[in-house]
Amino acid sequence: MLTVSPAVDPDALLHEVFGYARFRGHQRDIVDHVMAGGDALVLMPTGGGKSLCYQVPAIARHRVGQGVTVVVSPLIALMHDQVGALEEAGVHAAFLNSTLDSAGAQAVERELLSGRLVMLYAAPERVTNPRFLAMLDSLRERGRLSLFAIDEAHCVSQWGHDFREEYLQLALLAERYPGVPRIALTATADDHTRADIVHRLQLESARAFVASFDRPNIRYTIVEKDNARTQLLRFLRDEHEGDAGIVYCQSRRKVDETAEWLAGEGYTALPYHAGLEADVRRRHQDRFLREDGVVMVATVAFGMGIDKPDVRFVAHLDLPKNIEGYYQETGRAGRDGEPADAWMTYGLADVVNQRRMIDESAAEEEFKRLQVGKLEALLALAESLDCRRQRLLAYFGEAKPTGYRCGNCDNCLQPPERWDATEAARKALSCIYRFRQHSGIGYGAGHLIDVLRGKSTDKTRERGHEQLSTFGIGADLSEAQWRGVIRQLIALGHLASEGEYNTLALTDSARAVLRGEIKIELREAREPAPRVRGSRSRGSGNPKVPRAAAVLDDAGQARFAALKTWRSEVAKEHNLPAYIVFNDATLAQMASESPDSLSALASISGVGSKKLEAYGRQILRVLEQVDS
Ligand code: ADP
Ligand code: ZN
Repeated sequence: MLTVSPAVDPDALLHEVFGYARFRGHQRDIVDHVMAGGDALVLMPTGGGKSLCYQVPAIARHRVGQGVTVVVSPLIALMHDQVGALEEAGVHAAFLNSTLDSAGAQAVERELLSGRLVMLYAAPERVTNPRFLAMLDSLRERGRLSLFAIDEAHCVSQWGHDFREEYLQLALLAERYPGVPRIALTATADDHTRADIVHRLQLESARAFVASFDRPNIRYTIVEKDNARTQLLRFLRDEHEGDAGIVYCQSRRKVDETAEWLAGEGYTALPYHAGLEADVRRRHQDRFLREDGVVMVATVAFGMGIDKPDVRFVAHLDLPKNIEGYYQETGRAGRDGEPADAWMTYGLADVVNQRRMIDESAAEEEFKRLQVGKLEALLALAESLDCRRQRLLAYFGEAKPTGYRCGNCDNCLQPPERWDATEAARKALSCIYRFRQHSGIGYGAGHLIDVLRGKSTDKTRERGHEQLSTFGIGADLSEAQWRGVIRQLIALGHLASEGEYNTLALTDSARAVLRGEIKIELREAREPAPRVRGSRSRGSGNPKVPRAAAVLDDAGQARFAALKTWRSEVAKEHNLPAYIVFNDATLAQMASESPDSLSALASISGVGSKKLEAYGRQILRVLEQVDS
């Protein structure tokens, strides 16, 4: 095994190149292991700081003459920005993908073969093509092939939803270049995917680093759908005016309609889904990354690898397919560690739709059963009366003690009122039973609720349902309460919603509920109390993680604004997203401390030596002008 000369100190390198004071979590262990030539499998949530785990070893190994690190990534659209970020930090990097013309590709190849390049980003199909492999062979012979980093490694698994055929070819790296260390990274944590990665990439002897998947700065909120648009609007107005965020919808049509409606409400809202032309998608993604305060309305086609750190909220207008999807999508909020919201509205129709999509799909029975199981886990999360974070973490195998309260989810912040719905559930089920007995057919939720509440309609009269013994037995509950009962019964699998008309039918387990053997506890349906506007910016929302810029005084705010203006000019000039120049937290610290010398500026987190040299004087001038 090759060892790196002790001259390269990772802490010093982290500070010099990236301007950060210290490694987080497992980063240092991973860096040490990989610097010393070990293979690694890194499982870390989105925003956990995976990039540094291979970038620091790449730089360190290059400095001691071990050559180039090849970073394999499926995200061609993002390579330009990733490379731009490294070059900004003074690290010589490049990418090879189909967006380059042949002259551009040749220039990169020359740099690669010269040994000057520290990191090369490439798509998997590029890495495994014979021409490219010949170049790697040549580097290898000269001892200039340092490391392979395989990003988004879950793409090698058919199990997940991002499977890429070309990732399977990457096994040849292990066979062809034994002795060149490999580090595989992903934010997908389930055992099945993990086993696939180890097996398919031949990482059996790699050391696994598994981080906690908790994202403490994300506040989880799940509200009952009443009028989704009004609810979303209230959420945006109360909490996220001017913030960048993502609104997920299930269908392309709903994406288009929602984006248009939000634009009409005064938001910079852009649609993104697979049905849009490639260059429209690219343009919208670019604007989301480069402009402030863009709301992306999207299907799940949007998001993988988007490393915009200041996404302040992710809202779901429709139910995701499962908890993995929910966690991955919501994980795109708050990568910078500042407070962010994961907000979802869901209702009876979502439950019915998701179940039907599974039932009607052409998949095999076993696969369907698995999907139903995953949906039920998600519904249990949505219906849950206790800490959402505890449920989420438990799902990913991280147990918390019973009674744990995270203090940063809706249920912890405002514990819901509970009521015992066992009797109500029995009434609903027996009414459905009576329908079948009496009419030989089932009915949907609307009619069921009318009958239970004793509401006389054309249908109740025509079908003779006013004579049923269950007519009016549930007049004590509101319509919303009954919807909650039915939704929960479907979520728990005691009721099935069938066919074109969503008629309700009892399942096998309904019997036990009818006999009163299963206790049903529900959250009290209530109007969500509007959260105090701006509560967070006064620091009372979640004191553990104040938002950097929000705690600035007036002078600080003026400096912050001036720095942002300066930053956006630089970003435009360099054709990069603003956060790559400096992120908000760094600007906020500059605004708060108002350093008056280069050495004071150098101590701010995020200011590495290259950026200090390139921008230091300009920044001091901007600050001086505001303060004078
Ligand atoms: P991931 O790829 O795991 O989603 P990133 O590598 O994009 O996460 O890191 C998320 C954010 O955290 C980035 O803005 C990054 O600069 C920042 N970050 C990572 N590690 C550190 C650290 N040790 N100190 C300060 N900031 C860090
Ligand atoms: Zn909680």
